[in-house]
Amino acid sequence: MSSESLDPRYTIKGATAEQQQAVDMLARQFLLTDERLAGIIKEFRRRMEEGLAADGKMMKMIPSFVTRRPTGTETGSYYAIDLGGTNLRVLKVTLDGKGGATSMHQKFTLPEEAKSRTLFDFIAQCVETFLDDHNIRPTGHQPPINMGFTFSYPVQQTSINSGTLVQWTKGLNVPGCVGRDVVRLLQDALLRLGLRVKVAALVNDTVGTLLSAAYADPSSQMGIIFGTGTNSAYYESASNIAKWKGPNPKSGEIVLNIEWGAFDSDEFSVLPFTPHDIKLDRKSINPRKQAYEKMISGMYLGEIARNIVLWLADQRLLLDGRSSEILNDMWSVDTSYLSSAAVDNSPDLSEIQQIIEKTLNVPNSTLVDRQIFKVISLLVGERAARLSSVGVVATLTKRPDLLNNHINIGIDGSMYEHYPDFERIMSETVSHFIPEEQFKNITFNCAKDGSGVGAAIVAMLAEQN
Ligand code: ADP
Ligand code: MG
Repeated sequence: MSSESLDPRYTIKGATAEQQQAVDMLARQFLLTDERLAGIIKEFRRRMEEGLAADGKMMKMIPSFVTRRPTGTETGSYYAIDLGGTNLRVLKVTLDGKGGATSMHQKFTLPEEAKSRTLFDFIAQCVETFLDDHNIRPTGHQPPINMGFTFSYPVQQTSINSGTLVQWTKGLNVPGCVGRDVVRLLQDALLRLGLRVKVAALVNDTVGTLLSAAYADPSSQMGIIFGTGTNSAYYESASNIAKWKGPNPKSGEIVLNIEWGAFDSDEFSVLPFTPHDIKLDRKSINPRKQAYEKMISGMYLGEIARNIVLWLADQRLLLDGRSSEILNDMWSVDTSYLSSAAVDNSPDLSEIQQIIEKTLNVPNSTLVDRQIFKVISLLVGERAARLSSVGVVATLTKRPDLLNNHINIGIDGSMYEHYPDFERIMSETVSHFIPEEQFKNITFNCAKDGSGVGAAIVAMLAEQN
């Protein structure tokens, strides 16, 4: 392909021929044509079917034990613990009976020690802090507080409030947990602190996001997370889940947690891997795993960009070949920098200058350096948004009948919320693969804090049963 056909935004003013050539090469590596996407969607669908038929496949398609849709008229206050990959939130959610929910929450950042060792005790301490700060710690005479527990890691669910951890993903790696019931682990930690709290529901963050969207709009069909990691859940017909051995639900539907971050793991056969993706994968704590997630979500995009920056610097095509101790460190480029860079339209790209010179500590960047940094941010972020449409299209077209009426998709996570135009690029890409008269029935909605609110809603549904 000639460089003329590349996006004019990738033309660097004042660049040398070598610099422009390198940028063009990157642009070609990160380009994803609709034709290429169509092939990836087809393979994604095949992997979904495979996961519905049997356990232990690449995409786990895990039944969640949630079989109902909330009506939006439920009222009351419910509690939840939302464990993400970066943050932990403890919430009290109040449902207004009109599809609206307000939440009061406290947010804690997971310390390294919790990520590698003391996770469940740390969570229990946060719950204790929340209850004490809000003066709601039940005494010996009061009934225990029921809490929904959002746990955003692959779990083989065994009931609405039990499930064994399949593997850690994202940044967590606490020994002794794989194969064990994570509700038991948390319940024991709560007991050690003498807290009268019962973990009433175990909810994947995608399931929570879907349920919180469904409370606001009962025609919600999918919940998606684009946060530290990425994954999705959707309502599937029980009759389509060949491996399901449980009772046939009255509603005829079960929420399935796709675990789509694992798509193309081990095989690396269809996703558009560049050397920068491969480098990240090799140095990650889970090589060859979570291949789709590593191209889409917040934990990884900054690191892909860092690999590109160093690749260019090492050829003396960027920053005059210089780096810094910070820039040499893995994970030092946070994905939020890409969001900031992508929207920097100032004449001297002053926001990007700040990131390169102050945050990453490489002084004296040129305007050419900053333009290249911006292009890198666009390439990595926009490829993520386009790739995310793969899972959306594959899932929606599984139940094409639903597309004839209004259908809502609830989405949560910082990448979705903050990366500029993420939703526009994703939905525009989806529109290329779904007939227009059906596409117009689809709405995408930000389900802010949906993962936590939804866990409270699942705890409520469990209580009603
Ligand atoms: P969690 O995954 O714990 O639920 P979030 O949804 O907040 O948490 O996602 C956190 C991830 O989002 C981190 O990997 C972080 O780097 C990334 N992130 C934070 N701010 C931004 C931003 N402005 N743009 C893009 N990504 C961001
Ligand atoms: Mg989250």
